[in-house]
Amino acid sequence: MPKGATIELIPVISPDPLPENGKLFHIWTIGCQMNEADSARVAAMLHEAGYRATDSEEQADIVVLNSCVVRQAAEDKVAGKLNSLIREKRARPDMSLVLTGCMVTNQQEKLKERFPHVDLFFDPSDFDSLKHFVPELAEMEDDLETLPHYYLEDVADTAVSAFVPIIYGCTFLCSYCIVPYRRGKETSRPFDEIVSEVRGLVERGVRDVTLLGQTVNAYGHDLPGKPDLADLLRAVGAIEGLDRLRFLTSHPKYMSDRILEAMAEVPSICEHLNLPVQAGDNEVLRRMRRTYTTDLWLDRLARARELMPGITVATDIIVGFPGETDEQFQHTLDVLEEADCDKVHVAMYSPRPGTLSARWEDDVPADVKHARHQAVEDLQVHLCTARNAARVGQTMEVLIDSKNKGRWGGRSRGNTLVHVADDRDLLGSIVDVRITESSPWYLIGEVAGSPR
Ligand code: SAH
Ligand code: SF4
Repeated sequence: MPKGATIELIPVISPDPLPENGKLFHIWTIGCQMNEADSARVAAMLHEAGYRATDSEEQADIVVLNSCVVRQAAEDKVAGKLNSLIREKRARPDMSLVLTGCMVTNQQEKLKERFPHVDLFFDPSDFDSLKHFVPELAEMEDDLETLPHYYLEDVADTAVSAFVPIIYGCTFLCSYCIVPYRRGKETSRPFDEIVSEVRGLVERGVRDVTLLGQTVNAYGHDLPGKPDLADLLRAVGAIEGLDRLRFLTSHPKYMSDRILEAMAEVPSICEHLNLPVQAGDNEVLRRMRRTYTTDLWLDRLARARELMPGITVATDIIVGFPGETDEQFQHTLDVLEEADCDKVHVAMYSPRPGTLSARWEDDVPADVKHARHQAVEDLQVHLCTARNAARVGQTMEVLIDSKNKGRWGGRSRGNTLVHVADDRDLLGSIVDVRITESSPWYLIGEVAGSPR
């Protein structure tokens, strides 16, 4: 699931400005937004138990690592992080080290042997284990469900935005993908529970919500009455005070007209679609077991653009899939050029043990994978340079969520990164920004009118 396609270290937790006498926790997260949402929930639980956040693992009484295994590179980073904590654990045996995330599912015995210095392994979303491990949580009478799911307190930059999981797992079996083995089959959360959860978040000051799922647009088919994502978007999108609603990741096969129409009609839903295609060649897609052709994907984009002119599109691409020829890769470049996406998360194929394609020879040499990766990046720089240059002079609505090197940073409704210099405190505000400069990756502008 994107930001999903690129593996990033996500600093979920900023230091708590008001450390009381409580113990300190530190959470390190890698991988997709679902992990980020899980980490936010762990943080909320620990906060409730009297712990306070710290960005230093040396000071923390409990260190939680939230892992990802979608590609070997991610798994290696987690192993590196775990090994780097061996000394810390020796120096401070009382520090608790906890590992969660996709690395843990069905692997606890093996991991215990490999990383004996870890005190607790728990499956993603099995928050009960944590409750029984942390004495302060175990002593609390509260049912797990009544504890807050979101860590928002006093952390201005995360308090405006929240990720809300709506469907867990995945029932597709794309031949390269480990997710279904680690996250189980698709399970939708109850409709009303999601709506009231978002309402609660908005009451606490959240303005921007992203609904999450590996196949977020498959939402509801397993629920009584079979509501779909269109129904949910309309219900959540109508919550007063919610300025921005997004959802990711969508599967092309479930990208129905009903959902696109709901997007077009509900004002709070951002004009942004995250729709991974993975490859632009039908034979490669067939072997990836993606269950659609490039035509279906292009058709869904065309329909979205017809209903919402100017909608931005992000996609994911895997290069160097087993057997991918130069010609097949060229088809991917051609399709990407035709689609003119705003953002492409490109990854080099990485065989994952237990998946179907791991049985096939990983026969595209590393240097060819690198060259294809670069070719996709180069094409995107070319497309985005032109598109962003055309945005100079336009005014965009930007939600400010960070400050870096004296400049405010935020996202447009279409998820484009925009920087502005302004003396006022704009964190958490929505501002109209008149774009003055462009680059392939971001825009620069000045605030027009009052922040709101
Ligand atoms: N559910 C989403 C994506 C989940 S995984 C979808 O269906 O598109 C996030 C991204 O990681 C994928 O989009 C894919 O581009 C990448 N990915 C997954 N498995 C991979 C593998 N074995 N090698 C390289 N990239 C992979
Ligand atoms: Fe993995 Fe495919 Fe499911 Fe996405 S749809 S999580 S790529 S199996």
